[in-house]
Amino acid sequence: MKRALITGITGQDGSYLTELLLEKKYEVHGIVRRSSTLDRPRLAQQYRDESVYGKRLFLHYADLSDVTSIRRIVQRVAPDEFYHLAGQSHVGLSFEIPESTCELTAIGTLRILEILRDQPKPPRFVHASSREIFGTPTEVPQNERTPMNPNSPYGVAKAFATQMVKIYREAHGLFFCNAICYNHESPRRSENFVTRKISLAAARIKLGLQRELMMGSIDSARDWGYAAEYVEAMWRMLQQEIPDDYILATGQTHSVREFLHLAFDTVGLDWQNYYRLDPRFGRPADPENLLGDPTHAYNALGWKSKTTLGELARLMVEHDLDRLKETGQPR
Ligand code: NAP
Repeated sequence: MKRALITGITGQDGSYLTELLLEKKYEVHGIVRRSSTLDRPRLAQQYRDESVYGKRLFLHYADLSDVTSIRRIVQRVAPDEFYHLAGQSHVGLSFEIPESTCELTAIGTLRILEILRDQPKPPRFVHASSREIFGTPTEVPQNERTPMNPNSPYGVAKAFATQMVKIYREAHGLFFCNAICYNHESPRRSENFVTRKISLAAARIKLGLQRELMMGSIDSARDWGYAAEYVEAMWRMLQQEIPDDYILATGQTHSVREFLHLAFDTVGLDWQNYYRLDPRFGRPADPENLLGDPTHAYNALGWKSKTTLGELARLMVEHDLDRLKETGQPR
């Protein structure tokens, strides 16, 4: 049985990855940080399953800033594969909290690389990097050789971590990879991300729980895929003969306006009757022309994003409708 260790296991991607690895018969260990609540809604199903939790799924407490604890966990678990997904994942928020974003995402990653380098048998490692490393891109579409040019604190932190992973791979001969991810969404996306804000609003408005949707500009475009497919690509990256970096993207962009249309269409409403522009939701530097070229992932991993934006919007809105009807809560 292979053993995997995941940081960020309670997040959107961490929860999909946990399901995938359990299906593949891995023993899965996750690092969670202490908080005032034990509520981990994205892992609730596995947590309640007595045949899984404590038998094939184990959670360990540590914060990304907590080197000694992470070192101890790595030594105790001795993972074959290490998936590094934890971090402050909100780009807009990184302008408000740049110090902690860089501390956790940049230096936190470096600390993990150092811990892994010291292990007698370092695990295979993948870092969830981001399209934000390209910021204002020097070419369109971007591939694994496109120069980094970040324009947000989040992008700078991810660029640092991405380059460090590459340096550790090349200088120390370690099986370390970067998954350079473009946006990927799901019903498990946090509610402060635009797609989930829209899917929830469509569901709430349909049920009479909300009257309008306040948002920033809806003209910006994103390369949006489905999160469950992206974590599968991360797993495939660690099954290769040689380590490498891969762009994970759909290769298409769509505007926020299109997503609004698709989401509201699912519940038979016209978004134009509910959308209100609120400039407070704008971001200091909204990136343009970020479009990923996933050719390398396709050629080397046989991976391709399959879920269309319309299917994704429907999946999210239907989930939100069902949950709101059942519990009055989005989760
Ligand atoms: P997410 O839902 O926000 O999950 C982030 C995870 O990191 C959560 O489990 C969170 O724990 C954990 N975390 C945050 N700070 C931590 C700390 N100080 N110590 C320990 N754990 C900490 O993000 P996601 O969408 O799954 O994304 C996963 C990774 O991919 C992130 O690194 C993100 O930046 C990157 N990425 C995501 C996208 C995307 O579109 N989703 C695109 C590019 C890159 P709590 O549950 O306790 O908050």
